[in-house]
Amino acid sequence: SLTSERFIAMFRTLAERIEQEKGYLCELDGHIGDADHGIAMAQGFAAVRAALDAADASAITPTEVFNTAAKSFLNAVGASSGPLYATAFMRTGTLLKGKAEAAAEDGPAVIEAMAKGIQERGKAEIGEKTMIDAWLPAAHAVAAAREAGKAPKDMLQAAADAAQAGADGTKDMVASKGRSSRLGERSLGHMDPGAVSAAMIVRIIAASLS
Ligand code: ADP
Ligand code: MG
Ligand code: MG
Repeated sequence: SLTSERFIAMFRTLAERIEQEKGYLCELDGHIGDADHGIAMAQGFAAVRAALDAADASAITPTEVFNTAAKSFLNAVGASSGPLYATAFMRTGTLLKGKAEAAAEDGPAVIEAMAKGIQERGKAEIGEKTMIDAWLPAAHAVAAAREAGKAPKDMLQAAADAAQAGADGTKDMVASKGRSSRLGERSLGHMDPGAVSAAMIVRIIAASLS
């Protein structure tokens, strides 16, 4: 089952891996944005990890883990990704409300709740060259795999693959949301940094909750 300890371990892995990818994500943002995406994401997850390190893992619920993550991420990140991921974590906190621990089936539902939160907050649609181009395909893959009667770990694997394909696809898109929309056609030929970090995040969540 998915205990608070499991979710805390997931956030620890996210903080470690995004820190490692910080330079690459800043480089991607340098092509079509302001080159801070890696710094923003690494700072956000470092703050989440610090807040969760200070919490008593055996005394907090999964909902409290995600609410703590939301608050720390929002406070630490000044960039657009701050409120988007804070909302994603808050929606997940709501999803898990009332559960002392989550079930295996809740793992794929975390991906769906995060995608929904990001879309509600940022109002981006598919094809606008944002992180939504990774998050929505991931959520749709979960729903399709569930419909097909797949096990939670296969639903999560499908989400990770769909997010990666979605992020790759942003290379051929013209940005129409966020900072890079100012570039218009010049945003063509570069992957969207937020979609690339989203694919990393979905893959890490999938591995952590399988
Ligand atoms: P900023 O642009 O403020 O510097 P970041 O560099 O942290 O913020 O994040 C940039 C990423 O945010 C973009 O690559 C894009 O994926 C994502 N983004 C921007 N606006 C939106 C939106 N309205 N909805 C979803 N994602 C968005
Ligand atoms: Mg930026
Ligand atoms: Mg910025």
